[in-house]
Amino acid sequence: MTVQATARILEGAPIAEEILARVRADVADFTQSQGHPPGLTVVVCGSSAPSMVYLDRILKACATVGIDGRMVHVTGDDPDTQSRELAAALRALSADDEVSGIIVQMPLPAGIGIKVVIDAIDPAKDIDGIHPLNAGRLRLGFEGFVPATAHATLEMLERSGVQIAGAEAVVVGRSPVVGMPVAFMLAKTGATVTVCHSRTRDIGAHTRQADIVVVAAGHPGLVTGAMLKPGAVVIDVGINVVDGHLVGDVDMASAREVAGAIAPVPGGVGPLTNALLLAHLARAAQRQAAERSAVTARGTE
Ligand code: NAP
Repeated sequence: MTVQATARILEGAPIAEEILARVRADVADFTQSQGHPPGLTVVVCGSSAPSMVYLDRILKACATVGIDGRMVHVTGDDPDTQSRELAAALRALSADDEVSGIIVQMPLPAGIGIKVVIDAIDPAKDIDGIHPLNAGRLRLGFEGFVPATAHATLEMLERSGVQIAGAEAVVVGRSPVVGMPVAFMLAKTGATVTVCHSRTRDIGAHTRQADIVVVAAGHPGLVTGAMLKPGAVVIDVGINVVDGHLVGDVDMASAREVAGAIAPVPGGVGPLTNALLLAHLARAAQRQAAERSAVTARGTE
């Protein structure tokens, strides 16, 4: 009799609940000590249906933990006007003590460069780690805000008891928001990391050697069971809609017969990403309040 191996499914929701319970407590402490809840503002340029669904979900999550979540729309008629309005909105939010964190919905509309955001957002409120100061801190191993999806990937591995130090890890995708931050975090934690991308000649040759495979390419079915080492841990980060269904980048049917554990789409890193974004917000709020107290104390010396 042959027994088919079936991968353990790594679910994000239970871990997200644990994180949110802690956020709820931190937010309650902050609100009591500061007299107002921490604020998160999402800034949206133009309007596209998928991103609005995602943003609505974040705002609803804010409400469940006591964060004052708001949305600001930038509605100018042309890219120049939108760029000016976006910069003005980000400067105003950066200067507002009741706003602890800012997220700018990506991608920006055509004609608006990321530099507009970088020049206007306060890095201390950049809770999704898009500012070069936060990216540089991550690169150099200092404390800062890392993109929530990359953080969710590491959190999923660590909380699932996966041994990262000493592991061979392959990351498929090299974007500044997912692939590269994941690669830096894995390397910092002690994995030996290979980064694959659209110019990699034979992705399977790399993934078949890997104990940990993270796939963040946006290409459904990119990684199959035949490309995995038996027992490997697979984190699927891709988000694709195929025939009206949400799927990741990993071919689940074949991968789960070979892998030891898989974080699937949906249900894997997605729920964790939102919870960690709110955890970043709570941390930003605490730091800013501590900074304000320190300034006040210096002023009264
Ligand atoms: P991105 O900026 O488009 O980057 C995709 C990366 O994958 C690039 O490095 C690209 O290579 C590589 N790639 C694309 N097709 C490939 C292929 N056929 N073979 C090998 N490499 C390939 O996307 P992203 O923002 O990093 O997002 C990646 C995926 O994660 C998307 O599906 C996105 O929706 C999803 N995502 C999920 C979450 C979440 O919370 N779960 C959050 C953010 C993003 P090149 O660099 O050579 O072009």
